[in-house]
Formats: sequence, structure tokens, C-alpha cells
Amino acid sequence: MQFKDIEGQRVLINHLTEIIDSGRVSHAQMFLGPTASGSLALAIAYAQYLNCSNRQHYPEGSELRADSCGECPNCRRYRQLIHPDLHLVFPNTTTTTVKSDSVSSDSFQEEFRAFLNNYHQCGTEDQWYEWLNVANKQGVIRERDAANIVKTLALKSYEGGYKVLIIWLAERMNLSAANELLKTLEEPSAGTLLLLVAENRDRMLSTILSRVQTVVVPNTVSGFSAEKKAAFAQMFVSWMRLLFKLNMQTLSAWVDQTHALGREQQKQFLQYSQEAIRACFLKTAAGITLPGELEFGDEKFDNFFPAMVTPRNVEQMNEAMTNAIYAIERNAYAKITFMQLSFTMSKLIKNR
Ligand SMILES: [Zn+2]
Repeated sequence: MQFKDIEGQRVLINHLTEIIDSGRVSHAQMFLGPTASGSLALAIAYAQYLNCSNRQHYPEGSELRADSCGECPNCRRYRQLIHPDLHLVFPNTTTTTVKSDSVSSDSFQEEFRAFLNNYHQCGTEDQWYEWLNVANKQGVIRERDAANIVKTLALKSYEGGYKVLIIWLAERMNLSAANELLKTLEEPSAGTLLLLVAENRDRMLSTILSRVQTVVVPNTVSGFSAEKKAAFAQMFVSWMRLLFKLNMQTLSAWVDQTHALGREQQKQFLQYSQEAIRACFLKTAAGITLPGELEFGDEKFDNFFPAMVTPRNVEQMNEAMTNAIYAIERNAYAKITFMQLSFTMSKLIKNR
């Protein structure tokens, strides 16, 4: 994965390549953000840039200040995710073909590479379980995986460069896996890089959090297709209009519609809404309109709604959205989640 192939995130990418160029790479980092925003793709591109033997630097004013070359032997093997010094660990579970008690990330390396290719390294946790055909199960990163991580990091790198271990959805580590990993975080061996990719900070042990440097990957809807954005914009506009009047009948019809979307779409809609709120706030508070954002396709709404998001309510709105996303992720009953969120948002709009 090269940085140029990642949508958006230009500010963050330029920051990351600057750190690598200056040689200040921290041995344990956590890329924190929704997988659909490219947190894993960024971690892989970061590792590839670090190991590239012919880093490219672009003239000042370019969108990206630097990128990996994509052609050297390291880049070529990174592109196929088969570099001997790149190790991937992820939530796993028994399947119809892998039944034994010895299940670990190693049981699914090929499936995981195929999954990453299929979703351009931006697939979600749900999509991964669908890919494995275990949609009703939740994967775990077990002690066995952690023991393999410790062992792998203790060995010398094959190619003399950085040995990289990426843990996708690190919040799925169970307690014994997390404890096992702590030892490695305390005494890292030279030339190793441990990249945790996580969506939810609250689910990580504080002892782990205190030992990793966090890279916040901003929530972005730039990965959504234009059709999806337009559909979400329409939903958002009708939702916010409903909240003004708070007519129970129409609100409950809207909640029913949203309930029928399914978990992944609900989560994405909430991510969209969270970003829309942020964009509204930037517009009212600072007069900044980011390109491509705040295109609700409804002129009347565009003119009046952003003023509803103020310094008094923006943080609470953001928190309410985050909590709702978390609830949906944990299989909460969507009708109740969206109904509660609607009441909260309605109150916050009133108290602007
Ligand atoms: Zn290269």
C-alpha cells in the first residue's frame, strides 16, 4: 500500500512521512480510528514507507510530500503483503474448516490477505467475519497469538530492515493476550515496530495505552461512494428536521426505516452524521467550509442548520454520536439506540 492510494488523510500522511524521515519512529504505536477510514491501510503504508529502499520526495506544494517508491523489492513484497518482515495479527475464530483448539491468526493468513485485497485494506470487522463465513461469531486475539507476536519480535529480521508487526483490531485482544503483549512493549528489541490498529480506545487496557504512541486517524466519510453520501445526506436532513418538531409519529417512522438498514449501514450513517455535525460547527464557529463537505443538497437546510451547532452543544453532540456507534457495534437494539439519540440531539439543538 502506497500513501497515494489512500483516499483523503493528506495532513496525517504528511505528518507520518516527516516523522519517519527525521528518524524519530516510536517502536510501538496505535493507529486509532474507524477501519473504513483507512486506519489499517495507513499502518501498512507507513511500514512500507519505513522499509522502502528508494523513498520518493515531491516538490513543495504537492499534495503528498513523500511516498514509498512502489518498485523496490521491499515495496513489491509489501504490495502483495508477503514481505517476510511483515506480520499480521487479527481477530480469529473457529470456522467450518478450522476447528481445532490451536486456532490463531496463522490459521487464516491467506484468507486475511485476500480479504484485505478485496476491500482495499479498508474492510470492517463485520465484513471480515462475513468473508470467513462466520458472520454470527465474534473473533478474538488470544494468548496464543500474543505468544507468537513475542516470539516473532524476538527474532532477527530477515532483510535487515524493520521487522513490523501489525495487530488489526487490537481491542479484540483478550486479557491474557494483552498481558502477554505488555512484556514486549516494555522491552522492545531493536529494529522492531509494533503497530496496533484499533477503533475504540475505551476497550483497550490503560497499561497498553500508556505504552504506545497514539496516531489519531480522523473519522472520514471520504471513502463512501457519492451515491451513499447523497443517500446519507438526505436521511440526515430529514432526521434533523424531525428533531425540531419532535413529532413522535413521524420520528418513529424514521427510526423504523433506519432500523431496517442493518448494523453496518447504521454505523456508517452515524459516522456520516458525526462528520456532518463537525462540518456544521466549523462553518458557524470559524466560517470554514471544507471542500466536499456540507453538501446536503438542500439549500434551505444548508442555510439554517449549521447555526444549530454551537460551542455550547457540539461536544455533547459528538459524544452522543460516539456512544450510539459504540452501542450499534455491540449489537444494541437499533430502534432504542436511534430513539434515545434522537431525544438527546433534539434537546441539544434546543439548548444551543
Ligand atoms: Zn520502495
